Amino acid sequence: MKCRKCTRSAVINMRQHKLALCSEHYIEWFTFQTQRFIQEYQMFDLNNRLLVAVSGGKDSLALWDVLHHLGYQVDGLYINLGINHKTSYSLLSMQKAQTFAHAQNLDLSIVDVVKEEGAAIPEAANLTLRGRTKPCSICGITKRYFMNRIGLDHGYDVLLTGHNLDDEVAVLFGNTLNWQSGYLLRQSPVLEGSAEGFIRKVKPFFRFYERETAAYTFLRGIDYIQDECPHAIGAKTIYYKEVLNQLETKRPGLKLNFYLSFLKAKAEGLFSPEAHIKIGDLHPCENCGQPTTAPQFCTYCRMWEQVRSTKSSLV
Ligand code: SF4
Ligand code: ZN
Ligand code: ZN
Repeated sequence: MKCRKCTRSAVINMRQHKLALCSEHYIEWFTFQTQRFIQEYQMFDLNNRLLVAVSGGKDSLALWDVLHHLGYQVDGLYINLGINHKTSYSLLSMQKAQTFAHAQNLDLSIVDVVKEEGAAIPEAANLTLRGRTKPCSICGITKRYFMNRIGLDHGYDVLLTGHNLDDEVAVLFGNTLNWQSGYLLRQSPVLEGSAEGFIRKVKPFFRFYERETAAYTFLRGIDYIQDECPHAIGAKTIYYKEVLNQLETKRPGLKLNFYLSFLKAKAEGLFSPEAHIKIGDLHPCENCGQPTTAPQFCTYCRMWEQVRSTKSSLV
């Protein structure tokens, strides 16, 4: 298969965008799209000081890389969770983040949870939950706490994370299965900061499929930690991703559509009290008297009127 923009062979074919590109044009496309999402969702501009949370994985390093090349002032934050049992996960992922920052001459702050709180995440989980639950709950809370605190204390305007579309859709799927209205209300690519002490948070990669960020990282030659955190094994989100991938195979674009439709429904007031007022906007159709939200005639009447008029114009 050839690249859409030149005569070279394509390295990636994105069925959902009906687009195949060579290495050079893919990197160009990916960078352009990132900038487009930043502007379209009014995430930040060149005057803002940005802090990107880096895990040493592909998404966060790709995000740091692309923003740096786009000319943004962006520093990194690595949170050492002390997850080193058997796999040395934290140690290795920290090294990846440090190596990247060093090679690109970028500033990386490191928070060491053991130094701050006196216990690594797995140990803390055993102490608080007596080993009954995975450490992900205390881990998530701790990461959010340090991202917010470091971001505000060091005067950053915006905190960025590398969540991609697959991450966001898996979370959305889980929240929808359980109708977790509070989580659904807060799930967004842009979360405004608050005077009470929350930094503005954004996810510039939320419209990229995981294989798209992976392809960028690979083609740019970025070295990242490929292993998942050992505690991620068996996590619900991994199962949801598998299910969603099966659906996507049959219907390319399904994941993107699911997420964008959710954002649209939310913007239209699906989860807001005003949504109830909309239901109250119903009035009788001027033709049949059945309730409708359309200004004059209900959908049924309009549709059949169209059928009748088309039919009569044919005879
Ligand atoms: Fe933390 Fe759980 Fe993620 Fe591991 S899988 S980094 S423990 S949230
Ligand atoms: Zn090309
Ligand atoms: Zn506190």
